[in-house]
Amino acid sequence: MDTQKGMHSAEHLSIKLLKAVLLCACTLGVLLSLVQVFLDAHLSNADIDRKAREMLAMIHDPASRAAYRLDTDMGQEVLNGLLEMKSVQMAAIHLDDTSKLARVERPIFASRYRLLSDYIFDPIRIYRQPLYSNEPEKEHFGELILSIDTAYEGKAFIQRSVVVIFAGIIRAIAMALLMYLICSTLLTRPMNRLIRHLSSIDPEEPGQQQLPVPEGNENNELGLWVRTANKLLTSINYHQSLRQKAEARIMRLSQYDYLTRLPNRRTLQKQINTFIQKAAKKHENIAILCLGLDDFKSLNAQVNFNAAEHILVKVSDRLRNCIGNKAYIGRLGEDQFAIIQSKIEQPYEAAEMAQSLIKQLDRPFEINGEQLTISATVGITLFPDDGEDVDTLLQQAEFAMIMAKSRSHNRYQFYVATIDTEIRQRKRLEMDLRQALEKRELSLAFQPQFNYQKGELVGAEALLRWNHPEKGLISPDMFIPMAEHSLDIIPIGNWVLENACQQLNKWHLDGHQNLRMAVNLSTIQLQDQNIADRIAFLLNKYQVPPETLELEVTETSIIDDLEASKAQLQNMKSIGVTLALDDFGTGYSSLGYLKQFPFDKIKIDKSFVEDLPDNRENCGIVEAIVQIGKSFGLKVLAEGVETVEQATYLAEKGCQEGQGYYYGKPLSAHDFISLISSQRVLSSNTQEKAGNHEAQGDNND
Ligand code: C2E
Ligand code: CA
Ligand code: CA
Repeated sequence: MDTQKGMHSAEHLSIKLLKAVLLCACTLGVLLSLVQVFLDAHLSNADIDRKAREMLAMIHDPASRAAYRLDTDMGQEVLNGLLEMKSVQMAAIHLDDTSKLARVERPIFASRYRLLSDYIFDPIRIYRQPLYSNEPEKEHFGELILSIDTAYEGKAFIQRSVVVIFAGIIRAIAMALLMYLICSTLLTRPMNRLIRHLSSIDPEEPGQQQLPVPEGNENNELGLWVRTANKLLTSINYHQSLRQKAEARIMRLSQYDYLTRLPNRRTLQKQINTFIQKAAKKHENIAILCLGLDDFKSLNAQVNFNAAEHILVKVSDRLRNCIGNKAYIGRLGEDQFAIIQSKIEQPYEAAEMAQSLIKQLDRPFEINGEQLTISATVGITLFPDDGEDVDTLLQQAEFAMIMAKSRSHNRYQFYVATIDTEIRQRKRLEMDLRQALEKRELSLAFQPQFNYQKGELVGAEALLRWNHPEKGLISPDMFIPMAEHSLDIIPIGNWVLENACQQLNKWHLDGHQNLRMAVNLSTIQLQDQNIADRIAFLLNKYQVPPETLELEVTETSIIDDLEASKAQLQNMKSIGVTLALDDFGTGYSSLGYLKQFPFDKIKIDKSFVEDLPDNRENCGIVEAIVQIGKSFGLKVLAEGVETVEQATYLAEKGCQEGQGYYYGKPLSAHDFISLISSQRVLSSNTQEKAGNHEAQGDNND
């Protein structure tokens, strides 16, 4: 339709055809008419001559007789008869002596056709006929002269010619119109219909609507044209759909994560940008949550690659289901996701979202029949408070997440501008820590451990101290995770082990042969393949009896890789050192592994010792742990003993050892030995109670 509208009427094929046919037909008609006229002129010409000769022949005899007799009257009468013919202009009989016998004449015919007819036929034609006497003399005695006016014949000729030419032209026009009608019926109209169809075809799906073959044209060129065009449309459609599919695929690949089908980092950035622009206009807030899976790397090592990918997909499904249409989620990287919460009014909405995301991962994941627990940590940044552009916001959310992870897992943290400085300070501190060993800023403090049965201090836990030249004493809770992160914990841990052994040897040599030293081992150290050899070497170097060295490991450090830790612990155990499970109750508290691991001692975390014996819950926990220790044949030591009530209660319940401010804070080596020497007997009271309990326990057995 549009195509037709767009056509100027002069551009219609039918009009063009009509013009051409008309021109040709008219030219041809005129030409044919002219030929006809020409022939007619020729015939008329001959006719004039023929008629004149007939006239001459007709009057020859009477004219001869009149001339012979020299009878002027007779001659005049004969010639008058000739004048009956309109075309005769003049007739005369001349005698040999050049005298005229008779003559008739009339004026020339004044015809308006003369101009043309004179040109074709000459105005007057003169005919002469000699006059002879009868046979046999055949004597010549005069001449008959006839002058014919051609205008009469000319007029008839021109009138005929006009009719012929007009008839020719009209015939040609009629033929042309007929041809035009035929052509337009057979060609132009079906073509117009095709054009209408063509323009109604959807260019997006050209193959959906086929052109109809015009009726009666199935087997001619028009039919062939339509079939060819239809084939072309179908093939365009096919190729177009192939291209569209390819384009869609490329789009998907470039915008979405291949594994989880979530928007990828680039798409996320774009999306955040759009959200930011909208929010800036409407003065709204946006929260960007960066969720990182905890310990995904160790999980990756634990299960195979496919299983890890499978977990990622399941995690992303849970997160997606959790946020529904309340937020936008994408995958930032291997084990990181970003969630954008637009139109939030208060930061707590983001915190709630973070909490519900973390909670989503509470339920364990089942992979290959195994139950795996995965936790996540979330960093939150707010637009426009924390930053105004995509990169800053994303970066800060990631920072906040990393910061949160370095404190503890499975939690969320907001980005605040101070985190930036915190991170800088942390980096600075990390660098300082690297040099702390060389600069001799590290030292050990020794916290006494008390045995309830013996009623005396039996050993110490070596606790690392860092005396920073500017910041003073820095808590191990702060710098140990940093050292673990940078792997500096290996040289630092070795230094601790060496100094502890050296110190223990000194005490032994000073007469305190029974003293025992407990040393903390970090997760990273536990993964160190040389650790057992290193310990054996140090025991040998400082002549320390292996059973006087106790190594403390936490639940969290062995749970990362159960099999490897088991092997490592067994290696150490085979040297003869004793093993203690530190912070018991704070981690996974799964007793299954207790049996598999060669521990000698459980250390009850100080959070369970708080408020004993008033806190009913803690009482229950402590009693249960003591019971477990008994059934697994493990000693139980309680940490964080600060009061006599706690000490009495613990001794009463069967706890073998205690450690805490009640017995002594972490002390220097010198102070520790002074304490040992001065407090040989601390509380006979507690010793008594412990003794009673021991007796009861024996009876029960
Ligand atoms: P931990 O192994 O659980 O050490 C016990 C922590 O509890 C020590 O903190 C100690 O000072 C504190 N403590 C002892 N008695 C009491 C008490 O009665 N009340 C209270 N409130 N606290 C008490 P510290 O020295 O700050 O050590 C913190 C953590 O740093 C340790 O926890 C341990 O995990 C780590 N750590 C310390 N030294 C080393 C080391 O040489 N190597 C490794 N890998 N970690 C170490
Ligand atoms: Ca410890
Ligand atoms: Ca502890």
